[in-house]
This record gives sequence, C-alpha cells and structure tokens, in this order.
Amino acid sequence: MAYPEPLERLIASFERFPGVGRRTAERLAFHVLRDPPARELAAAIERAVRDTRLCSECCNVARHSPCELCVDPKRDASVICVVEQPKDVEVIERARVFRGRYHVLMGALNPAEGSESEQLFVAPLVARVRRGGVSEVILATDPDAEGEATARLVLEALAASGAQVRVTRMARGLPAGSAIEYLHRGVFEDALDGRVELRLSRRPDAGA
Ligand SMILES: [Zn+2]
Repeated sequence: MAYPEPLERLIASFERFPGVGRRTAERLAFHVLRDPPARELAAAIERAVRDTRLCSECCNVARHSPCELCVDPKRDASVICVVEQPKDVEVIERARVFRGRYHVLMGALNPAEGSESEQLFVAPLVARVRRGGVSEVILATDPDAEGEATARLVLEALAASGAQVRVTRMARGLPAGSAIEYLHRGVFEDALDGRVELRLSRRPDAGA
C-alpha cells in the first residue's frame, strides 16, 4: 500500500539529503509527524532559507552577502584560506591565528558517497583569484583522504586557469586523518607557520 501523497512527498524530500536513503527518510518523516517539537522543523527551515544566504565572495553561509568577514577592511584580502565547511571558518576564527579571508567549498570530494567535484564551490574560488589581488591561497581542507583529494582538485583547477598565485597547504602539525573542526589554536599556528608550497604545474591536457 502506498503512503498518502503528502507523506510520500515528505519522504522524497528527506531522501534528497546527502547520505539519506529511503529507509532513513521514512523514519525521519514518521518522526516529524509523531513528535510535536519536530514540527517546528518546517518553520526553522523556512526561516533559515529566508534569513541566510551564501556570501557572493567566500560562499560561506551568512546573514548578508557579502559577509562580515569579506567586507572587513582590517582583513588581508590577498590571502585566502580555503576550507571545506562553514564550521571550519568558525574554528579557525576562534583560534585567532589568521587575518586573511576565507573560501568555503561546502564539502569535500568523496567519491565513495557520490559527492562530485561539481557540487563544490571551486569555480567561484578560481574566479576570485582570477579577478586579481590574491597572492596566496592556503588549502586548509581536512588532513584526511577526502581533504587531500579536495586540495588536489583545487590546486589543479587553479593551475588549469593559469592563475598566478602561490598555493600552500596547511600541513605540518595537523594530525593525519583528523578534521579541522576539532583542532585547537596551537595546532593552527604550527600548521600556518609550516605551510608548504604546492607547485602550480599546468597539465598538458588542461587547454588554453
Ligand atoms: Zn564572505
């Protein structure tokens, strides 16, 4: 027997979330229907969608676009720290070790989960760098397999664009396999100080 149509649509909506399959979507949908507090979800989603936007510069989620960090004249616009998710910006800001700007990719390459490079905000970063005024891009993706693959993807995209920019990887001091969001201040200081330059070699098949 099929579910009532409105319920079927709710399940289908949950199913579009990353990593959520049919069974989990059903469980979530039934939870929303049965649990009164869960019904606030609809209002919360509506408000979040209405009152936040993606910053046109750094792609972070913010109340306004461009966001506070991108319009702050005290921050160095020539250095861009590239992170996977908004949470990473928050953590690095709390460590107070970085005074440049950010770029949020909104995810990492994870072929196993079917996350594709097109879903990441790599193109807006390349466009930012190509507009000029950027001397260094620091890749601060997580020091795990997905983060490394993502860093490589960004490096290749910058190389293919012909951008003249120094690309570094926040490396030393970052425990392998860890996530940026769990690291503390001293670790970031070491990682920033010890960042290594990556070579922007243009691949022969990258085109003109
Ligand atoms: Zn911004």
